[in-house]
Amino acid sequence: MIFILLGPPGAGKGTQAKMLEEKLRRPQISTGNILRKSIQSGSELGNKAKVFMNSGRLVQDDIVIGLIKERIVEDDCQSGFILDGFPRTIVQAERLTETLGEMNLSIDAVIDFEVDSEELINRLSGRSTCLTCGAMFHKESCPPLKDSVCDDCGGELSQREDDKEITIKKRLDVYEDETAPLKEYYRKQGNLKTVQGRGTVQEIFSKVCAMVS
Ligand code: AMP
Repeated sequence: MIFILLGPPGAGKGTQAKMLEEKLRRPQISTGNILRKSIQSGSELGNKAKVFMNSGRLVQDDIVIGLIKERIVEDDCQSGFILDGFPRTIVQAERLTETLGEMNLSIDAVIDFEVDSEELINRLSGRSTCLTCGAMFHKESCPPLKDSVCDDCGGELSQREDDKEITIKKRLDVYEDETAPLKEYYRKQGNLKTVQGRGTVQEIFSKVCAMVS
C-alpha cells in the first residue's frame, strides 16, 4: 500500500498524510520533516539543506532520494507508506519508480491536491508549526487552544522560516516549474487522482479516504 500525496505547498498534504497515517496504520514519510529534523540536529546534511529550504528552493535530488531510500527499508514501512512531499521533480519520481521496482513494489495511487494560489498564500502565511511534533495550526481556520503552544504535544509553535511571505512566492514558482509536471507523469501511468483541496479538513479527508479504499 503505497500512496503519494502531491500538490503545492499549503495544499494540505501534511495534514491529510497525518490523518491517513492513523487511519491506514502506515507511516507518513515527509521529506520536509526529515530535513527539518536534520537541521535541528545540526548535522552536515541539515546545514546544507537549510540554505535551500529557507530560500524556498528544492534540496538537491541526490540528497532527498538518499533519505527516502534509507527510510523505506525500515521495518515500519514493510506494509506500505504514505509519501508527503516526495517526489518533487521528475528525476525523483523516476528514481522512486526504479527503487520500488527493485523491491517488487509499486505505487497504488498519487493523490493530487488542487488549491488556488490566493488560498495557498493565505494558508501558508497564517500557519504556525510545532517545533516538536510538526503539527500545524492556522491563526484563523485552526488556532491553537493556547497561544504559541501545540494542542497535541505542548511544544512551542513557530512560523516556519519558509512560510514568510517573500519565500512563499518562490516556493509556489518552484512548484509550478519543477513539481507540477509530475501530474502529467503520473497521469500517463494511470495513477493520478485529483482532489479539490477546498473545504474543511474533514470534508477533504472523506474524499481522500474514498480514493485509498
Ligand atoms: P515541505 O515541508 O514538504 O513543504 O518541504 C519544505 C522544504 O523542504 C521544501 O521547500 C524544500 O526546500 C525541501 N524539500 C522537501 N521535500 C523535498 C523534495 N522531495 N525535494 C527537494 N526538496 C525538498
